[in-house]
Amino acid sequence: MKNLVLIAPPAAGKGTLSNLLSKEYNIPHISTGDLLRKRANVDDEFGIELLCLLQTGELVNDDIVLDLLKTRLSDSDCKNGYILDGYPRNLNQANQLNDILNEINLSIDYVIYLDINKEIAKERMLGRITCPKCGAIYNRNDSSKLPKIDGVCDECDSKLNVRTDDSIQAFERRFEEFINLTLPVVDFYKNTGKLVKVDGTMDTDKILIEFSNMLKGDL
Ligand code: AMP
Repeated sequence: MKNLVLIAPPAAGKGTLSNLLSKEYNIPHISTGDLLRKRANVDDEFGIELLCLLQTGELVNDDIVLDLLKTRLSDSDCKNGYILDGYPRNLNQANQLNDILNEINLSIDYVIYLDINKEIAKERMLGRITCPKCGAIYNRNDSSKLPKIDGVCDECDSKLNVRTDDSIQAFERRFEEFINLTLPVVDFYKNTGKLVKVDGTMDTDKILIEFSNMLKGDL
């Protein structure tokens, strides 16, 4: 019961919630954004191309993302569950995900939809600082989400930075893509009975407690 998919608009807190769920259930957190950023850091022609594309906030080609995701989901640590963050982002990806899960004998138990409005998401995005090494997320505009030492990751001591796609322009594009392409995916999962809609403005610790309580009832 711990095969989880997390869908949310940009900067809604899906990375933070995924990190908590990953620790709570001891399942890997698979973020397609992280997989793509990692690939973009490889110093070759494709890496440079990908880096430029990610800065614009545009979605990456479905087959490229699928390829990276399939490799990661096939790792043995996904056998007892996983939390998928940032995928699927359109209906084609939702169908491609069903196909690869069938192929590697995995399934989806719940799809968590973090619902949050654009203004709050934008505010969160403007304060966000992240760890490029371990993916930990902090927020300069929220005293409860500041790192212990300014600019340094609590988890791995790396230097924190601002994501290159955390600009107003890229945010507008990413939010528009969410409305046009990803919201239909929410409806897709509503029809499968696997969708759990969560108020994304709630504190992430509270979301985790509510979700865990719901999961207990199902175990
Ligand atoms: P995220 O870390 O989820 O906010 O994703 C950062 C960026 O990576 C997005 O703005 C897209 O450019 C790209 N990306 C992440 N996941 C996907 C996906 N499933 N399909 C296409 N592009 C993606």
